[in-house]
Amino acid sequence: MERVYNFSAGPAMLPLEVLEKAQKELVNYKDTGMSVMEMSHRTKAFIEIAEGAERGIRDLMEIPENYRVLFLQGGATMQFSMIPLNLLPEDGSADYAVTGQFSGKAYKAAQKLGTVREAVSTKAENFARIPAQGELALDGNAAYFHYCMNNTIFGTKWPYIPDTGAVPLVSDISSCILSEPFDISRFGLLYAGAQKNMGPAGLTVVILREDLAGHARAAVPELMDYAAQIKGESMLNTPPTYGVYLLGLVLDWIKEMGGLPAMRAYNIKKAKVLYDALDASSLYKAAADQASRSLMNVTFFTGDPELDDRFVKEAAAQGLLTLKGHRSVGGMRASVYNAMPMEGVEKLAVFMKEFEKKNG
Ligand code: PMP
Repeated sequence: MERVYNFSAGPAMLPLEVLEKAQKELVNYKDTGMSVMEMSHRTKAFIEIAEGAERGIRDLMEIPENYRVLFLQGGATMQFSMIPLNLLPEDGSADYAVTGQFSGKAYKAAQKLGTVREAVSTKAENFARIPAQGELALDGNAAYFHYCMNNTIFGTKWPYIPDTGAVPLVSDISSCILSEPFDISRFGLLYAGAQKNMGPAGLTVVILREDLAGHARAAVPELMDYAAQIKGESMLNTPPTYGVYLLGLVLDWIKEMGGLPAMRAYNIKKAKVLYDALDASSLYKAAADQASRSLMNVTFFTGDPELDDRFVKEAAAQGLLTLKGHRSVGGMRASVYNAMPMEGVEKLAVFMKEFEKKNG
């Protein structure tokens, strides 16, 4: 079978060039006589891989000197608890913006660990839009403000970075990391699971301002303590070595593509093909409000669940895979991360038009 265009929300497509490079190096990495998978994380070869990946992400995202980059495990979901355990004092309070399922989960996880406030929620509108700055009920004394920059399930993205004054901004960037440049210095902490724009599942990247580490509660396990992870250089235990290696290859690929400004231009172009197709159609409706549209996850529906099912099946038969929307939204979702080529998006747009002609 030929490779397909896989619109999965994650794990998702990786650049073919990256997979081919990994394939070439699979059984004998740079004359070490072994695979990266078989290599001790304490070897010179692996430490060079990890240092290269850190350097790569720092360069591409322009991460300032006073920020640490951690390579952890446990997915973005573990950060939902690790953040309050480290940043929320027992007598403090934190603000959460609930704009989708994962930010709701983050809020719930933090509720178990301390006092948190819902600064805004768009649940009543089925998370179809991102609230404006003026809608955020901010607590000026909050330990931090948490939001999810790109809502993978609903296909919305914050079109601005919230202004929270001196309150540190914390953001889940799992489904938009490395898709475009933004000002890291506006944030206290950023985190992302790898399985969308960075590589295979199993690796979680955390970027934090160093003054925010070192305040963990006494009972916090060492692996969940940012200061301990910084001190141990993300190697308190065996790191997800192959994921770190793959991340390095993905970062090299992005650099060759022209870095994050080029990535953004490409992602805007790709998303436009799909949103233009939706806006020109009388069969499909975009699920997200226009001003809140995501560049990474394009959600849409016909209004007829049976027709949606047929769309997904017929698209799959043409090599356009995993277009079924999340069960909480229904309809369709095309996840078009960095590695989705323009050809895949164009092929999907053509399929949409043909399907509409037959069924519209
Ligand atoms: N946050 C966002 C925005 C996500 O898209 C996901 C996964 N789809 C998660 C968190 C959960 O990530 P993980 O499975 O890595 O814990």
